[in-house]
Amino acid sequence: MSLPATPSNPVTPDAASSVLSLRGVGPGIAEKLGRLGIASIQDLLFHLPLRYQDRTRIAAIGSLRPGDEISVRGEVQLTEIKHGRRRMLLSRISDGTGFLTLRFFHFNARQQAGLVRGARIHCFGEVRAGNGGLEMAHPDYRNIDDDDNAADETHLTPVYPVTEGLRQLKLRGLMDIVLADDALLNAQLADWLPSRCLPSEKFPGLVDAVRYVHHPPPDAPVQVLQEGLHPSQQRLAFEELLAQQLSLRQLRAKHQHHVAPPLGGARTLSQRLLSSLPFELTRAQRRVADTIFADLDQTIPMQRLVQGDVGCGKTIVAALAACHAVEAGYQVAVMAPTELLADQHRLNFAQWLEPLDVTVTWLTGKIKGRKRSDTLSAIVAGDAGVVVGTQALFQEDVVFHRLGLVVIDEQHRFGVHQRMALREKGARGPAKQRQHPHQLVMTATPIPRTLAQTAYADLDVSVIDELPPGRTPVGTVVVSEQRRDEVVARMHQACREGRQAYWVCPLVEESESLQCQAAQETAEQLQQALPDLRVGLVHGRLKSAQKEVEMQQFKAGEMDVLVATTVIEVGVDVPNATLMIIDNAERLGLSQLHQLRGRVGRGVSKSSCVLIYGAQLSKLARERLAILRETNDGFVVAQRDLELRGPGELLGTRQTGLVNLRIADFQRDQHLVPAVAECAEYLLREQPRSVGPLIRRWLGEGLQYSNV
Ligand code: ADP
Ligand code: MG
Repeated sequence: MSLPATPSNPVTPDAASSVLSLRGVGPGIAEKLGRLGIASIQDLLFHLPLRYQDRTRIAAIGSLRPGDEISVRGEVQLTEIKHGRRRMLLSRISDGTGFLTLRFFHFNARQQAGLVRGARIHCFGEVRAGNGGLEMAHPDYRNIDDDDNAADETHLTPVYPVTEGLRQLKLRGLMDIVLADDALLNAQLADWLPSRCLPSEKFPGLVDAVRYVHHPPPDAPVQVLQEGLHPSQQRLAFEELLAQQLSLRQLRAKHQHHVAPPLGGARTLSQRLLSSLPFELTRAQRRVADTIFADLDQTIPMQRLVQGDVGCGKTIVAALAACHAVEAGYQVAVMAPTELLADQHRLNFAQWLEPLDVTVTWLTGKIKGRKRSDTLSAIVAGDAGVVVGTQALFQEDVVFHRLGLVVIDEQHRFGVHQRMALREKGARGPAKQRQHPHQLVMTATPIPRTLAQTAYADLDVSVIDELPPGRTPVGTVVVSEQRRDEVVARMHQACREGRQAYWVCPLVEESESLQCQAAQETAEQLQQALPDLRVGLVHGRLKSAQKEVEMQQFKAGEMDVLVATTVIEVGVDVPNATLMIIDNAERLGLSQLHQLRGRVGRGVSKSSCVLIYGAQLSKLARERLAILRETNDGFVVAQRDLELRGPGELLGTRQTGLVNLRIADFQRDQHLVPAVAECAEYLLREQPRSVGPLIRRWLGEGLQYSNV
């Protein structure tokens, strides 16, 4: 199910609209354009600039700052070849306001001769701070006469994504050809958006918008353009978000044509489960469970996302849904992103369901050989009622007898492609009457509403917005690692009072083994410093049996401190643990920190979370951590996390179909989303024929999941 991201899946165009019909494009160039996802002239026009260069002005050298990308002119003061580790040509120029060093690693004798003392040159490049003042590496430059006053360009210069062998100049040349031809432009750019749907009167028509972004006029507001906020850019961003949304909704509609087994019925199992619980459902749990039960009664496959802050009790809701499936004679697959979390689910489901005579089976990648084939047989024979596991559940050799419900926990870890693929899994029977399982996905990453509307437009969303009673809010403190000893002392105190603590060591290096090593060392140090405490350790490199032993000891209170890598992020439930200490907290995203924090505060005693940061941390980064001190609300945290990191991270970078946006930006363009949703409704209702072309224009075939 590997699916190339947009834009590498272009639609094959007819001859008149193929790039091959353009002057200067032969098979060689066409092949390179193809690598950029460009097959048609329309594709070319939607190959949008990443940013702009301003070659219209000439700056005084004395006014330059590192990071500027700018033109300057000056007289050469000195040119010399330096033999350091690499041979290079250095040339110092001045315009009377200051000096600038030009640095060339590749140069020839002719270039060197052109840069003699006294020569006047014009150059464009990026300014950086060098050892001896400001410099430019490999600027574009030319020699000029005294009376040459012309700037390079009269409009801003677009900078495009390029590929090996296809340079900016070539792409700009091709754009020039197309943009100069009004008839061609109008033929290629059908404008499907009725003006009544556009959220701003300032939005231009499609042709004007496209022309503007490729060739901003000389008086274009540079700053606004660089930020992507010009009405022409916003017009295109709007259309792109619309195409994304339409594509997901189309997918949703397609699945609603599928048939699912109705899983309603007596509901005695779920009643029995409920009455066996030591607690009552919260109102929010009950509401969401009822919604799910109503979905399961239907013959349309449920496609529901349950969002709820960490600790709100999503698992029991999933278990109740599982009861319905089992009672109707179907199997349930429960999938979690990590072995540890899957294991936790297995324990929960077994504890809840086995007393009701439901078999709970377990399948992960680590189960091999005889054990595996036995498990597979039980699944295919239908003896396994509920099967809990990791991604291993969806490998090809896993065949279900009658799969009625798929539960995916922490779905943000999986990404949109997997979500689609899992939906197909378990579809059985001859094509015509094939049955598709219901699908319930759960996430503790509360993504902001506007983002949810776009990213999960293919799902119904329910929110569990209430925590079970008796939870105490977690107090959070942010401290420098210089105060580590105090933290250790405080932990010592808490443990002597009978409480337990987690000590989390996040990824310091991009390497799992180093991470495990860091956790191991921390555990040893703590044990040495606090010989009267029992310090345990879990990390990804331990055998699952050993992990289980450690977890069980911690759970049983036979251990005071559990040192862990981020493997405990999800799934651990120990009410007596009241202290969560996170080392190198600055390395984690806010939402992830929030989830870790949710591991404490599960009992009646007051809990705390201590975020330790490295001494070198910037003020901004400390302020970021302080957000967690200010709020315990996962939605607020997620919103701030989104602002700080962008949605790619929040949704998991693998959601390629969603983050490879050409011009829109989920964060910047959130304000467009309500109008996008309305426009999507309108188009689906009033002009459904424009939907397919709109999707293809922006996504190619990239988001067509039919064959994942
Ligand atoms: P999450 O939504 O983060 O997955 P869990 O399903 O793991 O949360 O639930 C957290 C803990 O709260 C579990 O121990 C669970 O048994 C317990 N729990 C769930 N619902 C309730 C409730 N209504 N009242 C009390 N405890 C509950
Ligand atoms: Mg959970």
